[in-house]
Amino acid sequence: MPEGPSVKMFHSVTCLFVGGVVQKATGSTRQICPEQLVGLKLQQCQAHGKKLYLGFTSAYRQECKDPGMVTVPTQSVSDPASVLILDDSRKQQVMDAGPQGGEQEEARGSFLLGQGLSTPQRERKWLQFHFGMFGSVRANEFSRANRANKRGNWQDPSPRLVLYFPGGQFLVFYNCRIYRCGSPASSHTSDILCPEFNRNLALQALQLAQPICYTLLNQHLFSGLGNIIKNEVLYLSAIHPMSLGCLLSVEKLQTLLDQVIQFSYGWLDNKLKGKGLKYHIYQQTQCPKGHAVERAEFGPPHGLQRATWWCPVCQPAVQ
Ligand SMILES: [Zn+2]
Repeated sequence: MPEGPSVKMFHSVTCLFVGGVVQKATGSTRQICPEQLVGLKLQQCQAHGKKLYLGFTSAYRQECKDPGMVTVPTQSVSDPASVLILDDSRKQQVMDAGPQGGEQEEARGSFLLGQGLSTPQRERKWLQFHFGMFGSVRANEFSRANRANKRGNWQDPSPRLVLYFPGGQFLVFYNCRIYRCGSPASSHTSDILCPEFNRNLALQALQLAQPICYTLLNQHLFSGLGNIIKNEVLYLSAIHPMSLGCLLSVEKLQTLLDQVIQFSYGWLDNKLKGKGLKYHIYQQTQCPKGHAVERAEFGPPHGLQRATWWCPVCQPAVQ
């Protein structure tokens, strides 16, 4: 599953296309209508934890705001974002109807253009990408089949979304869920790869009376931290995954936080340099010191159980 470092790398790929106007859009997604992105300008990209956000504006309206340009017509079939331009009374009705954006809005219907109101921020349309287990983003190349499927066919993966830009450039999104949203609604203070990551809040969370491996995967507390980072940093901190946070010393938890940050930034750096990552414990049968590794599925009661590897010698259980 793409974790924070992977999504930050996807972000660096999509940022190269900022300022480009979508010439054509295709893809198998049913969560949005790709054709409705045609004619929009990719204005901004953001990554928060495991989510990527792309913000679009109408290229036509942006150009017409420049000094000296003619007055923008209030209705224009050539400007897709103007289709739902509203008069003042209607704007108020829409604004009174409920919150703009956020998780509630994601679940509703198709990607409606022109929901933007009068301010620049509201004119921006955001798409939110969740990458699931095998999601990816590519620039100017399609993913090719590297093995035959169960029927023996060499079928290339089907993109969820392809955005074509001028000059034959394109962005391809695979194995992701796509939602429209009002704006990126995420706190930087919980993002492990943000300078604003709040260590004090994180430390308090780690001291909860629950297994430390449950706390680490809580995206509200450690946005971007996935199962690989969890396994690796617990090994590097010599902490048993099922240790209760409240039984661990503050020094031990500070070491764990150091490892979370160092490991995540190191992984991101490797990715940006095109280097792979050698795991210490994740999916290993022996730890780096040669001890036999144990594996089990751990997760909160009624919650997702995640594969966990640990060394019983290097990571002794805390009673
Ligand atoms: Zn060991």
